[in-house]
Amino acid sequence: MTTNQHTAMVIGGASGIGLATAHALTADGFRVIVADVNEVAAAEAAIALGPTAASIHMDVTDEASVEAGFAATGNPSAVVSCAGLSMTGPITDLELVHWQLTLDVCLTGTFLVLKHAARHIADGGSITCIASLNGRQPGTGMAAYCSAKAGVLMLVEVAALELAQRQVRVNAISPGLVDTPLVAGISFVPGLTEDYLANTPLGRSGRPEEIADMAAFLASDKAAWMTGTAVDLNGGAHLRRYPDVLGHVRALMQTPPA
Ligand code: NAD
Repeated sequence: MTTNQHTAMVIGGASGIGLATAHALTADGFRVIVADVNEVAAAEAAIALGPTAASIHMDVTDEASVEAGFAATGNPSAVVSCAGLSMTGPITDLELVHWQLTLDVCLTGTFLVLKHAARHIADGGSITCIASLNGRQPGTGMAAYCSAKAGVLMLVEVAALELAQRQVRVNAISPGLVDTPLVAGISFVPGLTEDYLANTPLGRSGRPEEIADMAAFLASDKAAWMTGTAVDLNGGAHLRRYPDVLGHVRALMQTPPA
């Protein structure tokens, strides 16, 4: 791969928010590297982005994979960390393996991306981590995800302090409910989406492009004085309460089959 000052790396860029971000950064003139554990989807994304884009396999839970991905990319000027997943369940029943997987991808994965991004990013560059509304708002059945995302918010603040000397900016975006494959399952729980939207002042879920636009802004010089922040991007949902996810799931389990 060739290197230049205008390379952007989008980790978890093969789907949802990451994919939309890859498109937004390409439109802004970046040469985008799509890094994802889903190699096939990453390659398809890079083809769709056009001839300047490329893809690499990266598993954020594996330090050797993250290290190799950054070594192959050279010195990007923007990095957006989007890889994520969520394993849900009440704390009393949550299997350690599910807790661990969520923490491994969402929190340790963000740490590994930050660590190797910090080593490779050009001075003056920008690192953006996709956190979540759940980093500040608890949801029943979401202990692992909420804990991981709260950790991401603090990690971003520490990284912003440590990298400021090189004028590298580190910020987070905390989306609310955004229509992506990650949350497709919630539509199978009657009432859950409605409850979420009733607690969202602007009354709708977000589009991946709306998160991508903020990621592109943070990667641009327009955000040159912004570091260590978390941008709430959720239609105002942080102003109210998170739906009782477990309550809705329990109600579904008690509903007799039609
Ligand atoms: P998505 O499932 O559409 O995309 C996630 C991407 O991460 C996929 O391409 C997946 O292959 C990749 N990924 C998963 N594990 C990985 C690993 N170990 N290494 C590398 N890549 C890996 O989901 P999305 O909704 O676009 O989520 C993107 C980010 O936004 C996540 O961090 C998620 O927690 C966060 N987020 C999403 C929402 C939402 O409502 N969709 C809300 C708040 C925060």
